[in-house]
Amino acid sequence: MNPRKYHAGLAVAARAAGAGLHSDSPVTALTPQGGRWHLTTPTGRITARRVILATNGYSSEDLPDWLAGRYLPAQSSVIVTRPLTDGERAAQGWTSDRMAYDSRVLLHYFRMLPEGRFLFGMRGGLRATRRERASLSRRIRQHFHRLFPAWRDVEITHEWDGLVCLMRSLTPFVGAVPEAPGLFAAMGFHGNGVAMGTHAGASVAAMVRGEPPADCPTFLSQPPGRFPLGRFRRSLLRPAYVAAEALDL
Ligand SMILES: Cc1cc2nc3c(=O)[nH]c(=O)nc-3n(C[C@H](O)[C@H](O)[C@H](O)COP(=O)(O)OP(=O)(O)OC[C@H]3O[C@@H](n4cnc5c(N)ncnc54)[C@H](O)[C@@H]3O)c2cc1C
Repeated sequence: MNPRKYHAGLAVAARAAGAGLHSDSPVTALTPQGGRWHLTTPTGRITARRVILATNGYSSEDLPDWLAGRYLPAQSSVIVTRPLTDGERAAQGWTSDRMAYDSRVLLHYFRMLPEGRFLFGMRGGLRATRRERASLSRRIRQHFHRLFPAWRDVEITHEWDGLVCLMRSLTPFVGAVPEAPGLFAAMGFHGNGVAMGTHAGASVAAMVRGEPPADCPTFLSQPPGRFPLGRFRRSLLRPAYVAAEALDL
């Protein structure tokens, strides 16, 4: 599937169902008051009886404070080549259109796209800073060229990255935020949120309406635990990545 088209389709469906969509309006404060939640954005305030946190790897430690230390953003990156010729595919010996990933801890994932471009992805960055992104951009090329040496000189035409969201239990959270009536969350998809995010969205919407969610195992609604080191938890990832790289060799 093409996730961008899927995202556009979801937006059309949400609008058709009566939802209002407002981009570029980050919530900067979320406070309970008089049985309602007050949400502040740079240009306005709204109140709501129920709020769903769906900020995944882009969450903030204080929105709400309960989230502090309970999620771990990690960067994932993708590169895509120009369309490959049949000769180039044969030269590398990779002619399958199947999606594949390897068994590394910091796995590579890859597939031939329908128009013959090759998509290659991997994890590894800690933050979405310019420096980290440039470093990951260099490393993903090195890994790609090591695995697919016949395509070393093939132009890479597209590249993107973003933050995925890890949880301590390695399980998404879809449920009510404890001791915060009216506040719900659906997040922690570990790099597999395209299908799971939609499923979790339907489940959390049912919870918001006070209905039992279909196909939502109860373990998903267990409130996530905190990572060690609190707001310094990301520093754990660096040695973990170094160890993973060593084990993966
Ligand atoms: C390179 C890469 C490859 C991936 N490949 C796959 C794949 O092959 N299959 C798969 O299933 N998943 C994949 N994923 C993961 C997938 O993209 C995510 O799991 C999915 O996007 C999560 O959706 P979401 O809506 O929960 O969160 P996101 O798509 O991360 O959206 C969170 C949104 O919250 C917004 N936000 C944050 N803070 C605030 C605030 N204070 N106020 C308002 N808005 C806020 C952000 O701007 C963002 O738009 C990949 C991710 C990356 C980065």
